[in-house]
Amino acid sequence: MWEGGKDAAKIVIMGAGIAGLSAALHLRQAGYQATVYEAADRVGGRIRSIRDRIAPGIVAEAGGEFIDPDHTEMLELAERYSLPLLSLGQERETRLGDTFFFEGRHRSVRELEKALRPLAEGVASDQRGLQYTNHRSHNALAKHLDQMSLDEYLRSAGADGWLYRLLDVAFLTEYGAPLADQSALNMLAAIGMDPAAMLETFGGISYGFKVLGGNDQIPKAMAEELGEESLHLGHVLRAVRSNGHGYVATFDTDGGTQEVAADFLLLTLPFTVLRRVELDVALPMALAKSIKTMAYGTNGKQVFGFERRTWREQGQSGYFFTDLPAQSGWDSSQLQPGTAGAITIYLGGEKGARLPENTPPELSARWRANLDRVFPGSGGASNGVEFGVNWTTNPFALGSYSAFGPGQYTNFGRVSGPVGNLFFAGEHVSQAFGGYMNGAAETGRTSAEQILSRLS
Ligand SMILES: Cc1cc2nc3c(=O)[nH]c(=O)nc-3n(C[C@H](O)[C@H](O)[C@H](O)COP(=O)(O)OP(=O)(O)OC[C@H]3O[C@@H](n4cnc5c(N)ncnc54)[C@H](O)[C@@H]3O)c2cc1C
Repeated sequence: MWEGGKDAAKIVIMGAGIAGLSAALHLRQAGYQATVYEAADRVGGRIRSIRDRIAPGIVAEAGGEFIDPDHTEMLELAERYSLPLLSLGQERETRLGDTFFFEGRHRSVRELEKALRPLAEGVASDQRGLQYTNHRSHNALAKHLDQMSLDEYLRSAGADGWLYRLLDVAFLTEYGAPLADQSALNMLAAIGMDPAAMLETFGGISYGFKVLGGNDQIPKAMAEELGEESLHLGHVLRAVRSNGHGYVATFDTDGGTQEVAADFLLLTLPFTVLRRVELDVALPMALAKSIKTMAYGTNGKQVFGFERRTWREQGQSGYFFTDLPAQSGWDSSQLQPGTAGAITIYLGGEKGARLPENTPPELSARWRANLDRVFPGSGGASNGVEFGVNWTTNPFALGSYSAFGPGQYTNFGRVSGPVGNLFFAGEHVSQAFGGYMNGAAETGRTSAEQILSRLS
């Protein structure tokens, strides 16, 4: 219980991604002023929109892109700032087909459904028996399957041939890590129980939303509402120590090292980054393990520009999976005004981790040739513009998003404290929406609520 007055509580938040900003706003709404410190020179973290680079008027999302229909925290934020949404699931969009190109030819949805059917029964039975949340709460089946890699699981379930290749590329790109480095629970948690629901996993992107004009308008509007005095950019957190009654944070800034004291401290840095911060605070074992070892994907995006959206002329949505090096991707110009097109190829594993931001011509030619096989004729419509986005080499992300490795759900799970008056938020600690913008916003709000309950 906090004994000081409302204005005396010093609340400090690390990170101006959607989690940190959401926490600060909820505190503000309850009458408390928090101060947010951010390493970069902009807000939004892994939400960043790139405008007019592919073609005038076209916005490409460098990071968080799709808002699912049940991502209510994000949808409410868009509404709060009166930001119109692109509804990707509208009927004229869902009538377009998704593209599967494996072992040298296009595969129909019917073929895919047929190939998935035998696998779906085993998956459904495993899913029904599963119970888990973290290291404390799980059953024997969850422990067993968590310890299995997704690669082992799929092979033991009999997935082979082009179906294995499809599942391989689907989960390599969904979580950003090779299947041998992923817990089997990643798949069991993500997909529906019958072939039709499993199929939705592979065509599901078209059912969500994006913010018209760019998702980063949400964090920018939140920062504007908070006001400059609550937000300090260019502050790179290096160390946190407890000082008996609170915490002291040490930052590197352009002006040198700076120390800031806090009664309540909220950390929203990805654990990939936090594990490099000197944390001189006693932490429960599961949380310490989670900070140190939680696995992250290495997704990267390579965006290609086109004069026209040729795939749509052929009845295709632009959403694709392939066993060619391009892996997977979608029409990132979908529903945007104008005629210019953009395809984002979405890469996981080594390809995402090593993605150059300025694409060498031979690599570019290879990927464009891949796209021309997936969407015949698209090569002739190239506008010659493209760029890559690598999150793994970004020092303030060091990866794309959390993607649990074998054993990690039941060894620690998404534990978040609080520990004393030290709090944790971010996509990586969200039980319901781990990996997503919505999970970051949700845990920002819930950690603000935890802080408020200590204050009242
Ligand atoms: C390629 C890619 C595609 C994605 N696609 C989707 C999608 O389609 N849908 C979806 O919902 N989500 C998607 N996501 C995930 C989504 O973007 C994230 O889950 C969400 O933005 C994370 O928010 P956060 O606040 O938890 O973390 P962040 O946004 O990472 O915020 C943390 C903040 O801390 C700052 N920081 C880091 N180090 C320090 C330091 N030392 N000192 C001070 N500050 C520091 C960072 O700069 C950052 O601003 C995607 C992410 C990536 C990378």
